[in-house]
Amino acid sequence: MKLIIASNNAHKIYEIKNILAGKFEEILSLREAGVDHETVEDGKTFMENSLKKAREISEITGQAALADDSGICAHALDGAPGIYSARFAGEYKGEESDKANNALLLEKLSDKSDKTAHYTCAMALVYPDGREVTAEGYMYGRIIDTHRGSAGFGYDPLFVPDGESRTVAEMTDAEKNCISHRGNALKLLLTKI
Ligand code: IMP
Repeated sequence: MKLIIASNNAHKIYEIKNILAGKFEEILSLREAGVDHETVEDGKTFMENSLKKAREISEITGQAALADDSGICAHALDGAPGIYSARFAGEYKGEESDKANNALLLEKLSDKSDKTAHYTCAMALVYPDGREVTAEGYMYGRIIDTHRGSAGFGYDPLFVPDGESRTVAEMTDAEKNCISHRGNALKLLLTKI
């Protein structure tokens, strides 16, 4: 069976393809599947958003679709930016967006003593016959006040996972996949399919 990943985020697609390699006949990104569609992410939770994305893409393609919605939750900020992680600082594109989001997170945490945070990933797999399988994964750690490393994406240069001294952006892809919210969500999802 083919699987369409309901995303055009190159980093996420790469991470997901790595973890699911061999589990499906073919794994295609939206672009590779020739689908030009953007879901309006107006859910109130990570899972509402990912289910909405997966349902729409499965409906459009007639194939199984996998979507994830993810973000970082800072504990001293009552879980912000949470589901708004991608557009925390506003509507920027690509690396500009990461830069602005990271700067705003550092600013908001600058007077807080609690720098702990966690990433959440909600995964939803929707089959063309309407079956739905979901799983959530987490990665706990803390936000540091300077950027370190150039791997990964988004908030990774600021995030040090529990039990680590390196940021996620200082890890290899394989190391990140072993402990990441996305890796954990996918591993759990795999036990359910
Ligand atoms: P989504 O594409 O709506 O799921 O938004 C996810 C946003 O959360 C990204 O744009 C990043 O800002 C942040 N994020 C999610 N997962 C990660 C990760 O693994 N590393 C760094 N940032 C992440």
